[in-house]
Amino acid sequence: MAAMEDLRDLLIDELRDIYDAEHRITKALPKMRKAAGSEDLKEGFDLHLQETEGQIERLEQIFDLLDEPAKRKKCEGILGLLEEGEEKMEEDAHQAVLDAALIASAQKVEHYEIAAYGTLRTYAQLLGHDEVVALLEETLQEEKATDEKLTALAEAGINEAAAQGEDDDNEEESGIQRWAAAVRGGSTSRRTSSGSSSGGRATKKGAKKK
Ligand code: FE
Ligand code: FE
Repeated sequence: MAAMEDLRDLLIDELRDIYDAEHRITKALPKMRKAAGSEDLKEGFDLHLQETEGQIERLEQIFDLLDEPAKRKKCEGILGLLEEGEEKMEEDAHQAVLDAALIASAQKVEHYEIAAYGTLRTYAQLLGHDEVVALLEETLQEEKATDEKLTALAEAGINEAAAQGEDDDNEEESGIQRWAAAVRGGSTSRRTSSGSSSGGRATKKGAKKK
């Protein structure tokens, strides 16, 4: 184990941790994409895979700027979070429930990354590495945006769909379809479906024969 004597040593150590984490995440995202049922969630995982590859390149630039080799140090934290996510994927879950679980698991990963990049940025600021700060800030904003998108997907109906479980396939469109439409349209339309039901039925009884 390398000696850690100052903040620079800690910065390098933490960079190696997140560098390893990002590599593991690029391996996990395609599996999460495959397990997801919702097209919007699949798209979200695709986009974040591309972003994550860019984040790895940014970390390599940072190692370069700091004149350090780009090395990985096993990130037990992300490893654990990803393992928990995989366990969920192996369970025999209803698709809507699995989608909710995938979002939860992805958000835990994003929160880990947000904590890591926030801390790294602060260390780099203290050490006066302005270019490094800018690169870390870019990634931090991507992770925050991803977390917010995941929240939007969950709130647009995925959790609701999971709550409905198996018996949602009669009558109205399913919760999944509703939230997918809501995400595409930019606003939720959950309220309107119940509002229109009052008028239609009364007329039938009035039209009876004499
Ligand atoms: Fe990342
Ligand atoms: Fe991320």
